[in-house]
Amino acid sequence: MSKGTPSMGKKSSKKSHIICRRCGKHAFHVRRGICASCGYGKTSRMRNYNWAKSKK
Ligand SMILES: [Zn+2]
Repeated sequence: MSKGTPSMGKKSSKKSHIICRRCGKHAFHVRRGICASCGYGKTSRMRNYNWAKSKK
C-alpha cells in the first residue's frame, strides 16, 4: 500500500455516499446513514454551521 494518487483508485470499489432524500445532494453516507451536507439521519433539523455560510 502506497500513499498518494495511485492508491486513490481503490476508493471506487464501494460508494460511500448516495443521493440524499432531504437535500438532494450526493452526500448521504450509506454505511453511517447520515447526510454529510444536511445531517439527515442524525438530526431532525438541518445541519448548519456558521463557518459554512457563503460570503456575505
Ligand atoms: Zn442531505
